[in-house]
Amino acid sequence: MLVVDDQATNIQVLYQILSSDYQVLMATSGAQALALCASKQPDLVLLDLVMPEMDGYQVCQRLKADTATRDIPVIFITAQTDESAEEKGFDLGAVDFISKPINPRIVRARVKTHLMLKAQSDLLRSWAYLDGLTGVHNRRFFDERVAAEMGRAIRNQTALSLVMLDVDFFKRFNDHYGHQAGDDCLRRVAKTLKNSLMRAGDHIARYGGEEFVCLLPDTNFTGAMQLAETIRRDVISLQIEHAQSSVAPFVTVSLGVGCKPEKIHGSANSLISLADTQLYKAKEHGRHRIFGAELTE
Ligand SMILES: [Mg+2]
Repeated sequence: MLVVDDQATNIQVLYQILSSDYQVLMATSGAQALALCASKQPDLVLLDLVMPEMDGYQVCQRLKADTATRDIPVIFITAQTDESAEEKGFDLGAVDFISKPINPRIVRARVKTHLMLKAQSDLLRSWAYLDGLTGVHNRRFFDERVAAEMGRAIRNQTALSLVMLDVDFFKRFNDHYGHQAGDDCLRRVAKTLKNSLMRAGDHIARYGGEEFVCLLPDTNFTGAMQLAETIRRDVISLQIEHAQSSVAPFVTVSLGVGCKPEKIHGSANSLISLADTQLYKAKEHGRHRIFGAELTE
Protein backbone atom coordinates (compact mmCIF):
# COMPACT_ATOMS: atom_id res chain seq x y z
CA MET A 1 0.00 0.00 0.00
CA LEU A 2 0.97 3.63 -0.28
CA VAL A 3 0.92 6.14 2.58
CA VAL A 4 0.85 9.79 1.53
CA ASP A 5 1.37 12.67 3.97
CA ASP A 6 3.35 15.90 3.80
CA GLN A 7 4.42 15.41 7.45
CA ALA A 8 7.11 12.76 7.86
CA THR A 9 6.06 12.13 11.47
CA ASN A 10 2.52 11.15 10.37
CA ILE A 11 3.92 8.70 7.84
CA GLN A 12 6.12 7.28 10.57
CA VAL A 13 3.10 6.58 12.77
CA LEU A 14 1.23 4.73 10.00
CA TYR A 15 4.35 2.89 8.94
CA GLN A 16 4.84 1.53 12.45
CA ILE A 17 1.24 0.32 12.60
CA LEU A 18 1.18 -1.35 9.18
CA SER A 19 4.68 -2.36 8.08
CA SER A 20 4.76 -5.65 9.97
CA ASP A 21 1.74 -6.92 8.00
CA TYR A 22 2.04 -5.12 4.65
CA GLN A 23 4.54 -3.73 2.22
CA VAL A 24 4.28 0.04 2.73
CA LEU A 25 5.43 2.65 0.22
CA MET A 26 5.67 6.29 1.26
CA ALA A 27 5.18 9.63 -0.47
CA THR A 28 5.35 13.15 0.96
CA SER A 29 3.63 15.02 -1.89
CA GLY A 30 0.73 14.59 -4.28
CA ALA A 31 2.99 14.49 -7.31
CA GLN A 32 5.12 11.76 -5.76
CA ALA A 33 1.98 9.81 -4.85
CA LEU A 34 0.67 9.90 -8.44
CA ALA A 35 4.02 8.73 -9.81
CA LEU A 36 4.18 5.83 -7.35
CA CYS A 37 0.59 4.80 -8.09
CA ALA A 38 1.35 4.66 -11.81
CA SER A 39 4.60 2.72 -11.46
CA LYS A 40 3.92 0.45 -8.45
CA GLN A 41 0.14 -0.07 -8.64
CA PRO A 42 -0.46 -0.29 -4.88
CA ASP A 43 -3.61 -2.10 -3.68
CA LEU A 44 -4.57 0.75 -1.34
CA VAL A 45 -3.69 4.43 -0.80
CA LEU A 46 -3.90 6.14 2.58
CA LEU A 47 -4.07 9.76 1.56
CA ASP A 48 -3.63 12.86 3.70
CA LEU A 49 -6.27 15.45 2.87
CA VAL A 50 -4.38 18.65 3.67
CA MET A 51 -1.11 19.03 1.79
CA PRO A 52 0.59 22.02 0.14
CA GLU A 53 0.59 22.36 -3.68
CA MET A 54 -1.68 19.41 -4.53
CA ASP A 55 -4.15 18.44 -1.79
CA GLY A 56 -5.67 15.02 -1.19
CA TYR A 57 -8.84 15.82 -3.16
CA GLN A 58 -6.83 16.69 -6.25
CA VAL A 59 -4.69 13.57 -5.95
CA CYS A 60 -7.80 11.40 -5.63
CA GLN A 61 -9.46 13.11 -8.58
CA ARG A 62 -6.42 12.47 -10.77
CA LEU A 63 -6.17 8.83 -9.70
CA LYS A 64 -9.83 8.26 -10.56
CA ALA A 65 -9.53 10.04 -13.92
CA ASP A 66 -6.75 7.74 -15.15
CA THR A 67 -7.80 4.24 -16.33
CA ALA A 68 -4.44 2.86 -15.14
CA THR A 69 -5.02 3.94 -11.50
CA ARG A 70 -8.80 4.33 -11.12
CA ASP A 71 -9.25 0.91 -9.49
CA ILE A 72 -6.84 1.67 -6.63
CA PRO A 73 -8.97 2.34 -3.52
CA VAL A 74 -8.30 5.56 -1.61
CA ILE A 75 -8.82 6.14 2.12
CA PHE A 76 -8.55 9.74 3.28
CA ILE A 77 -6.74 10.53 6.49
CA THR A 78 -7.95 13.77 7.98
CA ALA A 79 -8.09 15.84 11.16
CA GLN A 80 -11.19 17.58 9.81
CA THR A 81 -14.36 16.20 11.24
CA ASP A 82 -17.04 18.04 9.29
CA GLU A 83 -19.38 16.00 7.16
CA SER A 84 -19.03 18.15 4.06
CA ALA A 85 -15.32 17.24 3.83
CA GLU A 86 -16.25 13.56 3.98
CA GLU A 87 -19.05 13.98 1.45
CA LYS A 88 -16.67 15.64 -0.98
CA GLY A 89 -14.17 12.81 -0.52
CA PHE A 90 -16.78 10.14 -1.23
CA ASP A 91 -17.99 12.10 -4.26
CA LEU A 92 -14.45 12.00 -5.61
CA GLY A 93 -14.35 8.22 -5.28
CA ALA A 94 -12.75 7.62 -1.86
CA VAL A 95 -13.80 4.36 -0.15
CA ASP A 96 -13.37 5.44 3.48
CA PHE A 97 -12.15 8.04 5.97
CA ILE A 98 -9.81 7.66 8.93
CA SER A 99 -9.56 10.53 11.39
CA LYS A 100 -6.49 11.92 13.11
CA PRO A 101 -5.21 11.38 15.70
CA ILE A 102 -4.65 7.87 14.46
CA ASN A 103 -6.18 4.95 16.34
CA PRO A 104 -4.06 1.90 15.45
CA ARG A 105 -6.84 -0.66 15.82
CA ILE A 106 -9.22 1.28 13.61
CA VAL A 107 -6.54 1.79 10.96
CA ARG A 108 -5.67 -1.92 10.93
CA ALA A 109 -9.32 -2.95 10.70
CA ARG A 110 -10.17 -0.58 7.84
CA VAL A 111 -7.01 -1.39 5.91
CA LYS A 112 -7.67 -5.11 6.23
CA THR A 113 -11.26 -4.72 5.00
CA HIS A 114 -10.38 -2.62 1.99
CA LEU A 115 -7.45 -4.81 0.95
CA MET A 116 -9.78 -7.81 1.03
CA LEU A 117 -12.36 -5.98 -1.10
CA LYS A 118 -9.63 -4.97 -3.54
CA ALA A 119 -8.46 -8.58 -3.90
CA GLN A 120 -12.04 -9.71 -4.56
CA SER A 121 -12.70 -7.05 -7.17
CA ASP A 122 -9.36 -7.79 -8.88
CA LEU A 123 -10.45 -11.41 -9.14
CA LEU A 124 -13.85 -10.48 -10.59
CA ARG A 125 -12.21 -8.17 -13.10
CA SER A 126 -9.87 -10.91 -14.24
CA TRP A 127 -12.78 -13.34 -14.67
CA ALA A 128 -14.57 -10.83 -16.87
CA TYR A 129 -11.66 -11.12 -19.30
CA LEU A 130 -11.40 -14.90 -19.40
CA ASP A 131 -13.02 -17.41 -21.72
CA GLY A 132 -14.91 -19.88 -19.55
CA LEU A 133 -14.33 -22.88 -21.79
CA THR A 134 -10.62 -22.66 -22.54
CA GLY A 135 -9.24 -20.44 -19.77
CA VAL A 136 -7.46 -18.13 -22.22
CA HIS A 137 -8.53 -14.49 -22.58
CA ASN A 138 -11.83 -13.66 -24.23
CA ARG A 139 -12.84 -11.40 -27.09
CA ARG A 140 -13.47 -8.46 -24.77
CA PHE A 141 -9.91 -8.64 -23.46
CA PHE A 142 -8.53 -8.82 -26.98
CA ASP A 143 -10.58 -5.88 -28.26
CA GLU A 144 -9.35 -3.64 -25.45
CA ARG A 145 -5.80 -4.88 -25.55
CA VAL A 146 -5.25 -4.66 -29.30
CA ALA A 147 -6.27 -1.00 -29.31
CA ALA A 148 -3.88 -0.23 -26.44
CA GLU A 149 -1.02 -2.19 -28.03
CA MET A 150 -1.56 -0.46 -31.38
CA GLY A 151 -1.35 2.94 -29.68
CA ARG A 152 1.87 1.90 -27.99
CA ALA A 153 3.38 0.45 -31.18
CA ILE A 154 2.68 3.68 -33.06
CA ARG A 155 4.13 5.86 -30.29
CA ASN A 156 7.27 3.74 -29.93
CA GLN A 157 7.56 2.94 -33.65
CA THR A 158 7.66 -0.77 -32.98
CA ALA A 159 6.14 -3.66 -34.90
CA LEU A 160 2.88 -5.32 -33.84
CA SER A 161 1.61 -8.63 -35.19
CA LEU A 162 -1.51 -10.75 -35.01
CA VAL A 163 -1.91 -14.43 -35.73
CA MET A 164 -5.51 -15.50 -36.30
CA LEU A 165 -6.29 -19.16 -36.49
CA ASP A 166 -9.22 -21.42 -37.04
CA VAL A 167 -9.64 -25.14 -36.40
CA ASP A 168 -10.17 -26.82 -39.79
CA PHE A 169 -13.53 -28.52 -40.36
CA PHE A 170 -14.53 -27.98 -36.74
CA LYS A 171 -18.26 -28.23 -37.45
CA ARG A 172 -17.72 -31.67 -38.94
CA PHE A 173 -15.64 -32.57 -35.88
CA ASN A 174 -18.49 -31.57 -33.56
CA ASP A 175 -21.08 -33.36 -35.66
CA HIS A 176 -19.02 -36.54 -35.74
CA TYR A 177 -17.54 -36.72 -32.23
CA GLY A 178 -20.06 -34.66 -30.24
CA HIS A 179 -19.88 -31.30 -28.50
CA GLN A 180 -18.05 -32.55 -25.46
CA ALA A 181 -15.23 -33.82 -27.66
CA GLY A 182 -15.40 -30.48 -29.52
CA ASP A 183 -14.97 -28.55 -26.26
CA ASP A 184 -12.10 -30.79 -25.29
CA CYS A 185 -10.45 -30.21 -28.66
CA LEU A 186 -10.68 -26.42 -28.20
CA ARG A 187 -9.20 -26.68 -24.72
CA ARG A 188 -6.25 -28.68 -26.01
CA VAL A 189 -5.65 -26.27 -28.88
CA ALA A 190 -5.79 -23.32 -26.46
CA LYS A 191 -3.30 -25.03 -24.15
CA THR A 192 -0.98 -25.66 -27.07
CA LEU A 193 -1.17 -22.00 -28.06
CA LYS A 194 -0.19 -21.00 -24.54
CA ASN A 195 2.82 -23.28 -24.73
CA SER A 196 3.79 -22.01 -28.18
CA LEU A 197 3.83 -18.37 -27.01
CA MET A 198 6.90 -17.96 -24.89
CA ARG A 199 7.09 -14.24 -24.18
CA ALA A 200 5.38 -12.51 -21.27
CA GLY A 201 3.89 -9.71 -23.41
CA ASP A 202 2.19 -12.08 -25.87
CA HIS A 203 -1.53 -12.75 -25.44
CA ILE A 204 -3.91 -15.41 -26.69
CA ALA A 205 -7.65 -14.90 -26.86
CA ARG A 206 -10.56 -16.98 -28.06
CA TYR A 207 -11.95 -14.79 -30.80
CA GLY A 208 -15.05 -16.73 -31.75
CA GLY A 209 -16.33 -20.32 -31.72
CA GLU A 210 -13.26 -22.20 -32.98
CA GLU A 211 -11.21 -19.13 -33.76
CA PHE A 212 -8.26 -17.88 -31.71
CA VAL A 213 -6.03 -14.85 -31.99
CA CYS A 214 -2.49 -14.22 -30.77
CA LEU A 215 -1.46 -10.64 -30.07
CA LEU A 216 2.28 -10.17 -30.45
CA PRO A 217 3.80 -6.83 -29.44
CA ASP A 218 7.26 -5.99 -30.76
CA THR A 219 7.10 -8.80 -33.32
CA ASN A 220 7.92 -8.23 -36.97
CA PHE A 221 6.52 -10.11 -39.96
CA THR A 222 9.24 -12.77 -40.02
CA GLY A 223 8.88 -13.44 -36.31
CA ALA A 224 5.09 -13.71 -36.56
CA MET A 225 5.29 -16.10 -39.54
CA GLN A 226 7.74 -18.29 -37.62
CA LEU A 227 5.44 -18.38 -34.64
CA ALA A 228 2.47 -19.25 -36.87
CA GLU A 229 4.49 -22.17 -38.27
CA THR A 230 5.33 -23.32 -34.73
CA ILE A 231 1.64 -23.25 -33.84
CA ARG A 232 0.68 -25.13 -37.00
CA ARG A 233 3.14 -27.91 -36.14
CA ASP A 234 2.30 -27.98 -32.43
CA VAL A 235 -1.38 -28.53 -33.23
CA ILE A 236 -0.55 -31.41 -35.58
CA SER A 237 1.61 -33.00 -32.91
CA LEU A 238 -1.44 -33.19 -30.62
CA GLN A 239 -2.65 -35.90 -33.04
CA ILE A 240 -6.31 -35.35 -32.20
CA GLU A 241 -8.17 -37.79 -34.46
CA HIS A 242 -10.41 -36.11 -37.06
CA ALA A 243 -11.93 -38.68 -39.42
CA GLN A 244 -14.08 -36.07 -41.18
CA SER A 245 -11.27 -33.68 -42.11
CA SER A 246 -10.46 -33.35 -45.82
CA VAL A 247 -6.84 -32.33 -45.20
CA ALA A 248 -5.50 -34.77 -42.60
CA PRO A 249 -6.62 -37.65 -40.36
CA PHE A 250 -6.21 -35.37 -37.31
CA VAL A 251 -7.07 -31.83 -36.21
CA THR A 252 -5.26 -29.06 -38.07
CA VAL A 253 -5.48 -25.27 -38.11
CA SER A 254 -5.44 -22.55 -40.77
CA LEU A 255 -3.60 -19.37 -39.89
CA GLY A 256 -3.60 -15.74 -41.03
CA VAL A 257 -0.80 -13.37 -40.05
CA GLY A 258 -1.09 -9.59 -40.06
CA CYS A 259 1.79 -7.29 -39.18
CA LYS A 260 2.15 -3.56 -38.58
CA PRO A 261 5.80 -2.81 -39.43
CA GLU A 262 7.84 -0.41 -37.26
CA LYS A 263 7.49 2.75 -39.32
CA ILE A 264 3.91 2.27 -40.46
CA HIS A 265 0.99 3.85 -38.62
CA GLY A 266 -2.25 1.93 -38.94
CA SER A 267 -5.15 1.05 -36.74
CA ALA A 268 -6.29 -1.92 -34.70
CA ASN A 269 -9.18 -2.44 -37.12
CA SER A 270 -6.97 -2.44 -40.20
CA LEU A 271 -4.62 -4.95 -38.59
CA ILE A 272 -7.46 -7.23 -37.54
CA SER A 273 -9.03 -7.17 -40.96
CA LEU A 274 -5.66 -7.85 -42.59
CA ALA A 275 -5.09 -10.94 -40.44
CA ASP A 276 -8.68 -12.00 -41.06
CA THR A 277 -8.24 -11.70 -44.84
CA GLN A 278 -5.07 -13.78 -44.66
CA LEU A 279 -6.87 -16.44 -42.66
CA TYR A 280 -9.61 -16.48 -45.27
CA LYS A 281 -6.98 -16.99 -47.99
CA ALA A 282 -5.41 -19.85 -46.06
CA LYS A 283 -8.79 -21.56 -45.97
CA GLU A 284 -9.51 -20.82 -49.63
CA HIS A 285 -6.18 -22.34 -50.65
CA GLY A 286 -6.89 -25.69 -48.99
CA ARG A 287 -6.60 -25.03 -45.22
CA HIS A 288 -3.84 -26.26 -42.86
CA ARG A 289 -1.57 -23.49 -44.07
CA ILE A 290 -0.41 -19.97 -43.33
CA PHE A 291 -0.95 -16.76 -45.24
CA GLY A 292 0.49 -13.46 -44.08
CA ALA A 293 0.84 -9.81 -45.09
CA GLU A 294 2.05 -6.48 -43.76
CA LEU A 295 0.17 -3.21 -43.48
CA THR A 296 1.54 -0.72 -45.98
CA GLU A 297 -0.05 2.47 -44.62
MG1 LIG B 1 -1.00 17.29 5.90
